[in-house]
Amino acid sequence: MLLDFRVAMTIGTYMSPTMKGYSDTVRTESQTSWHHVTFCLFALVLTWGVCTNAQTVPAEQYELNDSHLHLTNYIQEGTDLHDFLTIMGAKVGRVTLFGIPLQQQWSYQNSGDFAPTYYLQTDAPLYYYSFTDAYIATAYRSLTKEQQARFDPMITGFNPTDMYATDHIRRVLRTFPGVFSGIGEFTIHKEFVSAKVAGETASLLNPALDKILDFAAEVGLVVIIHNDMDVPFAKEGSQPAYLDQMKALLRRHPNTTIIWAHTGLGRVVRPSKSHAAHLSEILSDPAFRNVYFDISWDEVAKYVVATPESTHISADLMNRYPDRFLFGTDEVAPPNQQQYLRVYYEYKPLWQLLSNGTSENVRKGNYQRIFDNARNKVRAWENNHGSPAPSGSQ
Ligand SMILES: [Zn+2]
Repeated sequence: MLLDFRVAMTIGTYMSPTMKGYSDTVRTESQTSWHHVTFCLFALVLTWGVCTNAQTVPAEQYELNDSHLHLTNYIQEGTDLHDFLTIMGAKVGRVTLFGIPLQQQWSYQNSGDFAPTYYLQTDAPLYYYSFTDAYIATAYRSLTKEQQARFDPMITGFNPTDMYATDHIRRVLRTFPGVFSGIGEFTIHKEFVSAKVAGETASLLNPALDKILDFAAEVGLVVIIHNDMDVPFAKEGSQPAYLDQMKALLRRHPNTTIIWAHTGLGRVVRPSKSHAAHLSEILSDPAFRNVYFDISWDEVAKYVVATPESTHISADLMNRYPDRFLFGTDEVAPPNQQQYLRVYYEYKPLWQLLSNGTSENVRKGNYQRIFDNARNKVRAWENNHGSPAPSGSQ
């Protein structure tokens, strides 16, 4: 995959050399055989079809935007961005673009010749892999302007326990101006994952995190944060373990646009009976008007559509706060459109219970408003903060 990407970068843009190849062939072969001409023209038409499929259509014609997509996986491999445009097709308008900042180590001592690709496949630690930001920026820059307009790349390659994290974010913005719209998804508390990360354990109480959120506000970067609201298998009726800390954090950063991923749920961090009430408390409080929720991940969809009652509770909340929820897939390096949009289809019972306006907002409008705003602010900040730092220090 990395090799494919390097080759694509070397020969220039992805499609045009192929098309040029076909037209050259047409010219040469036409002198000898009409069959070849027909074949080559057919191939040209096919190639053109693929190209146009990946091109922009008017925004209102798309069915959804995706606020949560991992282009690469835990070992930094994934879908070629040009192929991904074809997967989006005419169905998905805009997508936030990030990898995964945590690299799974292949420890020979632990798994021998078995090469793990997911964090649950080995006891070896995860570590922060900052190159992900350069990889995402370079892939984005290999697109045409029109194609770029469909992506909002995000910076993720920083350690949220490091007081130097903001320096990394600043350095990425200055090295790749005109690219990024936000930071995240990055993780503080996550079942199975937090305990595996090498070094200091992330915490909502760490001043390094406050520094990151302050800087995001200064630049206008949207923040996508993964933070489980509770611990796995919590006792029903108990106060979610990290809810108060999270609210205190959000309250300390009223000027930062924050999307709380998965509404704070996880694979085994199940919604308590009070989950909707906890969200409602945040949504109704003007102190948290900067806070949004994404409903990404099939694990979240599973809970939302579990019963007609659970779907109604979620739909009611969204209909009451139509500006505060965003659809996302949370797919990792999807290979085709069917796999990519399975979470979207899983939500069908939810879509049916939303008013037209709410559905439109959750699927598209909220994304567009939040990320358009971020793009404008970040570009303005970049214009005011000069050229890349030559030594990499700030
Ligand atoms: Zn997540």
